[in-house]
Amino acid sequence: MKAVVYEGNGKLALEERPVPKLQETTDAIIRVTLTTICSSDIHIKHGAVPKAVPGTILGHEFVGVVEETGGAVRRFKKGDRVAVNVETFCGECFFCKRGYVNNCTDPHGGWAMGCRIDGGQAEYVRVPFADNGLTAIPDGVSDEAALFTGDLLSTGYWGASIAEIRPGDTAAVIGAGPTGLCCMMCARLYRPARIIAIDVDDSRLGLAAGQNLADVTLNPLRDDVEKEVRRLTEGRGADAVLEAAGGRDTFQMAWRIARPNAVAAIIAMYEEPQTLPLPDMYGKNLIFKTGGVDAANCGRIMELIAQGKLDARCLITHRTTLDRIMEAYDVFEHKKDHVIKIAVKVS
Ligand SMILES: [Zn+2]
Ligand SMILES: [Zn+2]
Repeated sequence: MKAVVYEGNGKLALEERPVPKLQETTDAIIRVTLTTICSSDIHIKHGAVPKAVPGTILGHEFVGVVEETGGAVRRFKKGDRVAVNVETFCGECFFCKRGYVNNCTDPHGGWAMGCRIDGGQAEYVRVPFADNGLTAIPDGVSDEAALFTGDLLSTGYWGASIAEIRPGDTAAVIGAGPTGLCCMMCARLYRPARIIAIDVDDSRLGLAAGQNLADVTLNPLRDDVEKEVRRLTEGRGADAVLEAAGGRDTFQMAWRIARPNAVAAIIAMYEEPQTLPLPDMYGKNLIFKTGGVDAANCGRIMELIAQGKLDARCLITHRTTLDRIMEAYDVFEHKKDHVIKIAVKVS
């Protein structure tokens, strides 16, 4: 089968690999139908993900059809359409029991697929702990509508929940790329009075406004963001800030535009360390929450998709096929042609 392999040293290649086999009774083999490239794949390519293992097949955001299940898999059978969770988790350890599945202590727990074990930019993939890591796609929900369930929408859903947005709040989302747009989409579920989208790319801001994901858009190249956020909030600052950009100065922006006692949810993955200038923020009494998604809500997300309350299909700006995925990588990595997300048809 064809698969995208991380070769190390900044190199990726489309290679021929054997079709995976079941290894544990809790595994399932999935025939991938639609997959996509995530900015985390680019971070792996750049060597910014220390736990990524060279030789691993990339891909952690995809949907497919169950091909085979191990003897202990109860919830799925051959032929079921499924979305696959970015994280594999045992469901039984200290962290899993509390919903913190990103820190599952099983050797295969957390973000393993497409990082430490083979992922889904391939024709087939082995999914460990299939009963936990798969979500059935209801009839009437297309592969494209379901594609982002396990990673981007999970991240947006988690980000919006840890940001503690209340009805009537002002939520500011830094970054209107795929993650930021999903954060806005999920923030909307909490009925804030306004969502402010901040990005240096006007086409991304245009998408956020055009899809009604943001009520106000600000471009730091043109607008004094801190001043504008204050003007919109009677001088206070944003009630909740979701930092999904991971840029050079976006961490500083996140705490500067937050009002005192706000939650700043730092969802972005940075490629460089950030400065935490505690003397400057003393007395502001901020609450920082950081990290990678606990993708434990895929069932709920799929329900919201089926009900039409979450629809991330607007992120798909490009479509291609697996045999042309390396061209897609080039477009995605270099943000060519106003790309947001690329749906890659596999079978
Ligand atoms: Zn990802
Ligand atoms: Zn666990």
